[in-house]
Order: sequence, then C-alpha cells, then structure tokens
Amino acid sequence: SLFANPRNAAAGSLRQLDPKVAAERPLDIFVFSLNGISGVKSLSAHWDTLQYLKELGFKVNPLVSLLTDLEQIMDYYRNIESRRHELPYDIDGVVLKVNELHCQQQLGSTSRAPRWAVAYKFMAEEAVTRVKDIEVNVGRTGAITPVAILEPVLLAGSVVKRASLHNEDVLKEKEVMIGDEVVVHKAGDVIPEVVKVIKEKRTGRERAFSMPQLCPSCGKGLQRLSGEVAWRCLNPACPAQLIERIIHFASRNGMDISGLGESLARQLYESGLVKDVGDLYTLSREKLVQLERMGEKSAENLLEALHKSKGNPLHKLLVALGIRFVGERAARILANHFKSLPEIAVAPEEEITGLEEIGPKIASSIKHFFNQEETKRIIKKLEDAGVNFKEEPENEGNNGVLEGCTFVLTGTLKDYTRREATLLIQAKGGKVTGSVSKNTDYV
Ligand SMILES: [Zn+2]
Repeated sequence: SLFANPRNAAAGSLRQLDPKVAAERPLDIFVFSLNGISGVKSLSAHWDTLQYLKELGFKVNPLVSLLTDLEQIMDYYRNIESRRHELPYDIDGVVLKVNELHCQQQLGSTSRAPRWAVAYKFMAEEAVTRVKDIEVNVGRTGAITPVAILEPVLLAGSVVKRASLHNEDVLKEKEVMIGDEVVVHKAGDVIPEVVKVIKEKRTGRERAFSMPQLCPSCGKGLQRLSGEVAWRCLNPACPAQLIERIIHFASRNGMDISGLGESLARQLYESGLVKDVGDLYTLSREKLVQLERMGEKSAENLLEALHKSKGNPLHKLLVALGIRFVGERAARILANHFKSLPEIAVAPEEEITGLEEIGPKIASSIKHFFNQEETKRIIKKLEDAGVNFKEEPENEGNNGVLEGCTFVLTGTLKDYTRREATLLIQAKGGKVTGSVSKNTDYV
C-alpha cells in the first residue's frame, strides 16, 4: 500500500540513490528492444532482435509472437486478453510493432511516440459510478450478501448494474454508503465488486446502511455463526433459498437443464408446482402450460431438457445437490471413488476424509447433508423419477490414467475448447491448474 500502482513502485525503486535498496526490491524485467549495436551482428527485423537478446541471456517475454495479418492479430489479442488474469503480472493491452527495422526507421516518431508501434488496449475493467441503493441477497445456503445497486455503467464490455459487497465486514471496511461514488471492478467471469469509495466526492447527503436483522425473504431472525463472516438465514423452508437451490440444480455445472433459469425457477416455486428439486421431475405438459408466459413449445423443451438431465453422470448430480464445500473437483473425486450416490450417502466419514484433496470440513458437510430428512425425501423423489445415480460406466477401466499429473492449458486448442479439454483430463484423473508452477507436469 506504499505505492499507488506497480508503475510507481518500479520507478520509485529505480530512483533510489542507494543501489542496495533498489537491489532489495523484487523487480524483474522483460527486454523488448535493442536500440542499436555495431560491429557484432547485423539485424534486419525486430523479431531477430528479440531472438538475439534471448541468446544473450536477457529475459524476453515468452508471449511475444510474429504475426502476419490482421486476422492473426485479432486472434492474438483475444487470446492474450482471455489469459491476462493467469499472468503473474498486470497488463492492460498488447503492443503491435512493425517487424522490419528499415520500415521502422522510415516511419520514425512523433514528438511523443514511434509511428511503427501501437498499443492495443483491452477493455477497461474499472469504472466509476454511483451507488443508488444497497440490497441484501439470500443465497442457497442462506448466506446474506449485501449488494450495491449501481447507476448502470459499461465495464469490460457489458452493462453492470449490481456489484457484490461480499459481507458485513467488507462493507464496514470499505465504508460504502448509499449515494457514494465508487470504483467498480470486473475481471473475467467474476461478479463485479466495489473496490473503493471516492470519499472526496461525498456531499453529506449519503446514507449509511446497516445489515438487516431479519431475513428479507422469510422474515426469520438472521444468525452469524462463530468463525463465519456471513450472516445466515437458518430457516430450511426459506423461499429465497429454495429458489436459489432450484437455479443451482439446473445450472451448467449441475444438471445443466437449459431453459430453467432464475425467472422460471421463481415461477415454479411460487406457483407451488416445485417445492424442492425433487419435484422438477414430476412436472408435466398440463401443469406447465398453466404458468404465465409458458407456451406449448417452451413446456415441451423444458420437459425434454429435464428428461435428458436424468442421464447425467453422478458428479453432475453431486454438484447440483449443492452440498456445502462440494464443488466440481470434489464431486469428481467422490464420484470416481464411490461410483454411486447411495454409496456416498452411507460412507463412513473416515473413508471420505481418506480421499486425496478431501478434508474433514468437506467430509463432515457430506455426512450432515445426507443425514437430513429433507435430503432423504429429495433423493427418494429423484430415484422414483429414474434419475441416474451412477458415474458413467464407460469411464471405468481407463479412469485414473492421468492420476497425479498436473496440466496447464494455454493458447488455442485445435479440437477442443479449454473447458472441454479440462473436463476430459479430469475424467481421466488428471488435474488442471491456471498457472505454471513447480508441480506442473504438462503445458
Ligand atoms: Zn430466510
């Protein structure tokens, strides 16, 4: 927090009068060009210069690339933009340079910058806007999240209207008030968040916000369990939580039921047709067409998607059930080991904890989940509906050939998206991580 940004940190370190102080700072450098040499080697292209610098032992950025047309430039730009958050340093764009040195010379420079190089910036990830209101959201586990309602602002290519304030502690630390001007940040697929308040812009008309003591959905008292930052609604029949659980069940990483999003989940719950996820498979065309805005065609599509989801492998069902702390990775490990849902439900806690990467927190959450009467009722409904409780049988035999191998996927793959490749590697027991480390086996 001593420096406003990395640029100031680097410049400030280099300006140190005592070189020992500068040497203590963990600065690093990529060399991008060579201003001139004589008598050693004749270089005619920028690319050759970079290769020569590399031979001499200078650090040259491994992401530099020689591109020949606009299409390649656009591909390169998009590729680097999609990977910027995996890099161990911040970047705000790429620089395009003319390769031939004699062309560079001919183009020359303006008073400010060379004409043979141009910065191609990524879309901004930070913007300033105003907090119109602060609301609280009830998640599927009952956690209460304060959310800033914003004046709509364009950020990283989409209009942002809401930003997470995470929890009461963060809200207090950032001192966000209703009416404040704030800096909002959005990175990749992550939910936008409020970075900081611009306090100089305060007028005195801002209003403080305090967390509610009652659940905004069911009106029951909220509790903050020891060791947790979130206030929670512990009412198992809380409508907001039940609706969120239906949305989660149908989500892409869960049962992947297309067409079943937030508004339909709410409609199904409020109409009384679906009280828990087990009821989804009792829906019929006759029941569905009674709903407002539900045509015959949409009803058929939904039933088709529901039917298809019954055949999902066990790990998707495990994610969909929304057991606390059980995400995609843990679900795959459990599914590969136990092979069927009933096996997991009756497994002793020690056996679950014994699995690699599964800690006691996950194990006790699993036991707690399957011991609840509500869970037993839902599982009975799913079983009656014919939902598959097993991991794919064709996976047996070649499971685990990549066990213990860690992969990092970069660039564009020819036959798969990176997500598809990740799933394939995981299906064979391998692990995929975001950045290269000493544990990486394959890039
Ligand atoms: Zn509630």
